[in-house]
Order: sequence, then structure tokens, then C-alpha cells
Amino acid sequence: MSSSVDHLLKEFMAKIVAKNPGESEFHQAVHEVVESILPYIEEHPKYKKERILERITEPERIIIFRVPWLNDKGEAQVNRGFRIEMNSAIGPYKGGLRFHPTVNLGILKFLAFEQVFKNSLTTLPMGGGKGGADFDPKGKSDNEIMKFCQSFMTELQRHIGQDTDVPAGDIGVGGREIGFMFGQYKRIRNEFTGVLTGKGIGWGGSLIRPEATGYGTVYFAEEMMKTRDESFEGKTVVISGSGNVAQFAVEKSLALGAKPVTLSDSSGYIYDPDGIDEEKLQFVMDLKNNRRGRIKVYAEKYGVKYVEDARPWGEKCDIALPCATQNELDADDARQLVENGCFVVAEGANMPSTAEAVEIFLEKGILYGPGKAANAGGVAVSGLEMTQNSMRLPWSREEVDQRLKEIMVNIHKTCEKYGEEDNGFINYVKGANIGGFIKVADAMIAQGLV
Ligand code: NDP
Repeated sequence: MSSSVDHLLKEFMAKIVAKNPGESEFHQAVHEVVESILPYIEEHPKYKKERILERITEPERIIIFRVPWLNDKGEAQVNRGFRIEMNSAIGPYKGGLRFHPTVNLGILKFLAFEQVFKNSLTTLPMGGGKGGADFDPKGKSDNEIMKFCQSFMTELQRHIGQDTDVPAGDIGVGGREIGFMFGQYKRIRNEFTGVLTGKGIGWGGSLIRPEATGYGTVYFAEEMMKTRDESFEGKTVVISGSGNVAQFAVEKSLALGAKPVTLSDSSGYIYDPDGIDEEKLQFVMDLKNNRRGRIKVYAEKYGVKYVEDARPWGEKCDIALPCATQNELDADDARQLVENGCFVVAEGANMPSTAEAVEIFLEKGILYGPGKAANAGGVAVSGLEMTQNSMRLPWSREEVDQRLKEIMVNIHKTCEKYGEEDNGFINYVKGANIGGFIKVADAMIAQGLV
């Protein structure tokens, strides 16, 4: 980076930090994007003249609200609910809801900001948003989850709509929670519309939506590997998380002939040297989705290694798929992965690698697919769910999967187009950021100063 661009970056980031104090994840996400976009903006002064960077980093609207609910003992509980409506230049706000005790404004702003670029990359007409609450679903009864979801939607419903803002799931929000929230929306608004995605198949959901993020991440990794005449066949894969994204990343890795060997949760990770096969995956799905147990139980059942309070990046692998949460892979982990021979990292989670870890991946020239490109399959199929809802016509599994695959291939092409460097190395960070930025920025200019 030239010294003048470096100076502009520092100046811009100082303003972002001053204006958004304490929001470290938001600063991190903005820095990563602005760092790769600034040189492009310097070459295209219209974006500078229209102050697109200043505008795109300022949410269009933030809604913060009280969520009161009664637990099973009849005691009053209070949580904080959020919806960040970040950018609607290319479509209604779209992005998931996260229920997790760590949720705060900075985390949701980082996720909403990333979502703007990710949604643009899919080529579907979706703006960017994100929301959630600092509610911890762990250990809660179904009844308590329902009470919370109903109270959350009682306020959120006045801000969303099928043409305004269409939330989906994220950490802690799966089919069960989407069902409770959809029911409450319908009850209050008296309308059956595609206001949420990730719905059940019998009531407006799309086939392949549960699988989409994990499958899409593997499809994207596959495209990256093709550039080096490589494939998943016979490769060892290290995966973090054991929720929605991780489960289907395992499933698709297996289908392509690879051997997934790890899974984790916030308590620790398991290492299965024989590989997590179809049968073991079914066990994990039942454990996590129905019994809502800890991943440690896998180690007890199959007699494999369990490491408490640790992440799986020290295990030897060819491919790493971080699928749990932000900043779960740091510089030491990155160095360890590369030393152990890992040459592909595709992010199923949002911003799982720290800035220092990303720097190491780029420096070492491995295939590194950032979340906003690699995990865009989830929101892409959410976009397809919206299309099917508008048409009132469901598509087959094959049709949705085919469209998902095409979208991931196209995102890869966009990354190549904007990310290829003089020596032929594809910088997917740069490619995804510039590729996602152009369409949104041009739409913002076309729509005037709004
Ligand atoms: P789930 O709630 O289904 O699973 C999350 C997994 O990550 C669980 O195994 C959970 O463990 C683990 N985890 C959560 N927080 C932490 C933490 N602080 N430290 C360690 N482990 C943690 O969520 P998803 O699978 O849907 O989401 C995973 C990631 O993928 C997130 O970054 C999300 O933003 C991203 N993503 C999801 C999409 C989707 O369609 N669902 C789309 C695009 C991105 P535990 O059970 O112990 O909490």
C-alpha cells in the first residue's frame, strides 16, 4: 500500500473509532474493507466525491429495544433487542438474528456491515442488516424460548416486512426460533408473508436453506482449490463449531471424499482420527439440534480425544473451515495451520480469523476465502426463499442446490476479477471487498443523497 493511501486509512479509521467508541469488532470489519477499497477509490474519484465510505459505514437506522419475558418460575426477565438496518441501496435489509449472551451493538454492526458486501456479491437484490439479543438460549426450556421469541417479535414486527427488512437465523436462532417468531408476526400483523427466511418446509421455507451456508462454504473452497488443480478428495479437514454451518460443512466435505476430523463448541473440541462419517454426523445432529448437549459427549461415545477450552487449529490438516464465531482463529493458530501443511482456509463463520491471522494467510500465499464470500451461500438461499415466497411456488431440492452452486461459482469469479494480483495470486479479501462494494456504491450514487 502506498504511503498516501496508508495515511488516508489511518485518518479514516481514527474518525470511525472516535465516532463508534468501544465497538472493536466493528472497527476491525471496517478496517479490513476500507484497507482494500481505498486504492480503488483513489482511482475512481466519484466515490470520494460522493463520500461513499463515510455513508456506507453509517447505519441507515438502528433500533434498540427492551425484551421483557417470564421464565418458567414466573420471574420477570429483561433482555436487550437490536436491529441494525445498515444499507438498503440494492434491496430490503437482509441478515440474520443472533441470540447469544455476548451480543452487543458493536458485534451486530460488524455483522450488518459485512452483510452489505456479502449480499451484493450474491447478485441477488438484498440490502444489509443484522439483529438479535443478548439472550442466552442455553439451558432454557422450549416454553421459555417461545416466550422470549414472542416478546422479541412483538417489538420487532413494527420495523420489518417482506419489502422492508427480512431477518433470518444466526447463532442461537434456528428453525425452532424462526417458527416462534413467524407465528407471533402473523398473529400481530394478520399476514402470511415471507417476512423471515429459514422457515419450515411446510410453511414457506426453502429446501436446502438449512444446508446452504455449510454447503456453500465447501463449494467456495472447491472453486478456490480448482485454481491449483486440487480437490477435496482424500483431504483432511479441520472444522470448528458444531452448529448449523459446521454440520453441513461436514456433510458436504464427506460427499466430496474428504475426511473431517474435528468439531467444537464453546467448551472445547473433539478430534476423531478415523474421521467423522455419516453415522457419527447424524449423532452430532441429534446431540446438538434435539438433545442440545455438549460436543464432549461425542468423545465419550466414540472414545476419541476431547480437549477442554481449546480450539482445533493445532490438528494437522489440508483444509480448515472455521464455522463457530468471530475471532476464533488468531495469529498463532494461523502459523500453526500453515506449518502443519494447511493450504486452504474457507470461513463458514463471520470474521473468524483475526486481522493478524489473515495477514499470515495472505503472506504465506495460501488459499484464503473470507466469510463474506465463502459463507454467502446461506443468505443466497434466503434470497431464493424470498423469491419462492413472492411467486408462491416452491422449487425442488435439485433446483435450489444448482442455483446455490452457480452463485458460489460466480462469487468466486468476482473475487478472481477484482482480487487477482500481478503475480497471479488471488487475494480473495480484496476481490470480495471491491466486488461487493461497486454495486452498492453505484446504487447509492444513482439514488441521490439519502
Ligand atoms: P449455531 O448457533 O448453529 O452454532 C454455533 C456454533 O459455534 C456452536 O457450536 C457454538 O457452540 C459455537 N460458538 C458460538 N459462540 C462461540 C464462542 N464465543 N466461542 C466458541 N464457540 C462458539 O450457529 P451457526 O452455525 O448458524 O453460525 C456459526 C457461524 O456462521 C457464525 O459466525 C454465523 O454468523 C455464521 N453464519 C451463519 C449463517 C447461517 O446461515 N446460519 C450464514 C452465514 C454465516 P455452543 O453450542 O457451545 O454455543
